[in-house]
Amino acid sequence: MLKGKLGVALALLLVGCMVCGCAPKHTHVYEKSAEQLPTCTKAGFTEYLCSCGESYRETLEPLGHSLDGEGMCSVCGYGGSEGLAYEWEDGGWTVAGPAAYGEERLAVAAKHESQPVVKIAPSAFAHNASIREIALAEGLEEIGNDAFAYTGAEKVRLPDSLKRVGSNAFLSCTALAEVTLGEGTERLDAYAFAYCTALGGVELPASVRYVGNFAFYQCWSLEEMIVPNGVTFVGDLAFAGCRDLTSVFLPASLETLGSYVFSECPSLREVRFGGTEEQWNALGAELPAGVALACGAEG
Ligand SMILES: [Zn+2]
Ligand SMILES: [Zn+2]
Repeated sequence: MLKGKLGVALALLLVGCMVCGCAPKHTHVYEKSAEQLPTCTKAGFTEYLCSCGESYRETLEPLGHSLDGEGMCSVCGYGGSEGLAYEWEDGGWTVAGPAAYGEERLAVAAKHESQPVVKIAPSAFAHNASIREIALAEGLEEIGNDAFAYTGAEKVRLPDSLKRVGSNAFLSCTALAEVTLGEGTERLDAYAFAYCTALGGVELPASVRYVGNFAFYQCWSLEEMIVPNGVTFVGDLAFAGCRDLTSVFLPASLETLGSYVFSECPSLREVRFGGTEEQWNALGAELPAGVALACGAEG
């Protein structure tokens, strides 16, 4: 109906022009007719069209990468390692390897094919000696069991999005000297950092609730361990064999303290506990001979 009217109007204008020789009077009225949004690297456009058929395009400049501290783009995944194997699982990607990854730097980006990367598969990079540096982008939620065990990793920063470090995740990474845990990490499962003999100070963030059995077993270089308030579980032998450990704080929030947590810690003379003596007694844990307990301490 509208089109018909417009057609008649146009025809009248054209007829008018034939009679008097003037140009047909028409003010373009543009409406957005098409749009392609820009990406990090490609320009997009918005197209405007008038009912007369005239159109024009406005270019939308490329957005540029949103690089994180590791040089990876949080939008498109630029900067992540090439050649990784991914498996789709529960609405996100799991990095599955390859086990024979040949580069020194492993960078797992936030996105793969525009979808989030959320997990590192169990054993994904275990025994991969070539890996020296591991960069994990924000967005990752879980590191599977044994994922980086026996690798040559020297330095690792875990993202705040990470909830769980799986069992044996960094087992026997004997070159691992520096670990920065993310502010959202809740679980360090059994043997997560066991036998990381070069590992110096590790700060457990306030989000941690669970420190599994043997989590830091035989971490010879660990000198101080402050278990933050909020942790409810510290498992058997969690800090056993930490021969340089001299300073320890355990919080009042503890509900379970395992057996032999500080056995074979020859440098340890005192454990500071945030709770009362009754709270400590309720835990039913024993300290090795020669290690004193100081209740009511502050972290
Ligand atoms: Zn027009
Ligand atoms: Zn990008």
